[in-house]
Amino acid sequence: MSREDEKNSINMLEEGIYISPKFEKDLLPEFELSREFFEEIYSMPGGEKVKECIQCGTCSGSCPSSYLMDHSPRQIFAMIRAGMRKEVLESNTMWYCTSCYYCYVRCPAGIKITDVMYALKRFALKDKDMKVPDNRPVRFMECFSAMVKRYGRNCEAIFTILYYLSTNPFRMLKHAVMGIKLFIRGRMPLIPKKIKGADDVKKLMEYVEEMER
Ligand code: SF4
Ligand code: SF4
Repeated sequence: MSREDEKNSINMLEEGIYISPKFEKDLLPEFELSREFFEEIYSMPGGEKVKECIQCGTCSGSCPSSYLMDHSPRQIFAMIRAGMRKEVLESNTMWYCTSCYYCYVRCPAGIKITDVMYALKRFALKDKDMKVPDNRPVRFMECFSAMVKRYGRNCEAIFTILYYLSTNPFRMLKHAVMGIKLFIRGRMPLIPKKIKGADDVKKLMEYVEEMER
């Protein structure tokens, strides 16, 4: 490594960017890098901690969904720190995060990984130029939010119908028998009851949505 490379490397490390000079020279020119991206992540509450990722892989090893993800949580943190905005936001990783918080409690650097996954979802939806790779998790989230906004809670029957109608109606048939059995046993009512304070929940959600615009 030349003295200049070494100096660059130290500067980048001080800024919380962990890229080896070799990686930067050979691979990164293939990607469009965005300094604003990691600055955005670092500026969210607790986001500064992302700089402290030691790439130990505990998050990836703990994550029950990592086998479905384009990039494991560990890789996503390396990519955020490299400023690979498009690759991160167009990946399916955050959409397969089930918010189980397993990585969150195990990360030795104390990084709020689940919160970062939520932030990545918001960034991906906000930026219309980003192509969300699989619309199912997005529809799932939208249908769930619609239920909570309306009834203050989820209503499985209506949620399932809405979700499958907006993704793949034929898949609904696959679960129809189970749905009917649940309905007969009174475990999946078709007419949901609003919880007490549902209107306040709705106002709260609208307020948060407004803040995120
Ligand atoms: S567990 Fe924490 S420190 Fe380790 S790779 Fe994941 S985010 Fe980085
Ligand atoms: S919170 Fe998300 S990223 Fe973390 S282990 Fe659970 S599913 Fe994986």
